[in-house]
Amino acid sequence: MSGAPLFDRVALIGFGLIGGSIARAARAQGLAGEIVTTARSEKTRARVAELGIVDRVVETNAEAARDADLVILCIPVGACGPVAQEIAPHLKPGAVISDVGSVKGAVVRDVAPHLPVGVHFVPAHPVAGTEHSGPDSGFAELFINRWCILTPPEGTDPAAIERLRAFWSGIGAKVEIMTPDHHDLVLAITSHLPHLIAYTIVGTAEELGQVTSSEVIEFSAGGFRDFTRIAASDPTMWRDVFLANKDAVLEMLGTFNEDLSKLTRAIRRGDGETLFNHFARTRAIRRGIVEIGQDSSAPDFGRPYANLTKKK
Ligand code: NAP
Repeated sequence: MSGAPLFDRVALIGFGLIGGSIARAARAQGLAGEIVTTARSEKTRARVAELGIVDRVVETNAEAARDADLVILCIPVGACGPVAQEIAPHLKPGAVISDVGSVKGAVVRDVAPHLPVGVHFVPAHPVAGTEHSGPDSGFAELFINRWCILTPPEGTDPAAIERLRAFWSGIGAKVEIMTPDHHDLVLAITSHLPHLIAYTIVGTAEELGQVTSSEVIEFSAGGFRDFTRIAASDPTMWRDVFLANKDAVLEMLGTFNEDLSKLTRAIRRGDGETLFNHFARTRAIRRGIVEIGQDSSAPDFGRPYANLTKKK
């Protein structure tokens, strides 16, 4: 524990990978006087109670939100609007309400209209995750040295933004502020498109299964294994991401398809120079990412937190 709590009562609505990681980290750092949580199913609520990470597990979203100083929606993007509507009458005046959704424009559109005057809406997206989900999958170190992007609507009380910034910094994240539209465009290329490609390629390999099934598994270390990890990500979460960020994803997909056509043509024509130059450029980009500390050059199995994530 370190220092005084930043918020007397924190409510986490949803307790999966992200909610569970926030709870573990906030508790470890002493950032919340009390942590209250709930989840949609009785099964998850019972498991969270068993884990003993939070102070109280309650039955309903309304009960969790009541009297909380910070409410964070840790649920799929598509559920944020209806849940905001449900909890709105129970929010404490002056409370900060936030979320962790991977798309921001749709969350702002769906949540903001329900919120009463006097609460401060500061949407957030921690750019950190694994392919695991559920109450057992979270871990306190998930956000360390990762970005958390805040997208406060214009006119949001700067003090509320600062309090949320301090909370995310307190659990190890680096905080950046953007508009929702800019966030959605950046994440379309850096996260959403790579997931779509992984989902596609694993599906394609599966369709070729009758000829290659044993080879697909046996030789999966040659690049395919990384795609299978990404393609194991939660189907509900990713369905909602693509539905909610349709325009930005389609724009990026258009550019991607054009670039893929250029590489296809180079392969067909035996144009080694084009291929070499392209691969040299992308290698430099990868090295830049490692240099600024956003990834390690160690193989996955050698990374510090690789063994801490648990399957559902
Ligand atoms: P998760 O592990 O599947 O947990 C989701 C939680 O939300 C569960 O507690 C679930 O309850 C609850 N829930 C689901 N539908 C609900 C509904 N309609 N109403 C109320 N509660 C509901 O998911 P997660 O990975 O933590 O993702 C949560 C959010 O974080 C998503 O918006 C996602 O975009 C964002 N995010 C995810 C990652 C990632 O890598 N996973 C990274 C950054 C941001 P039950 O268990 O009872 O079903």
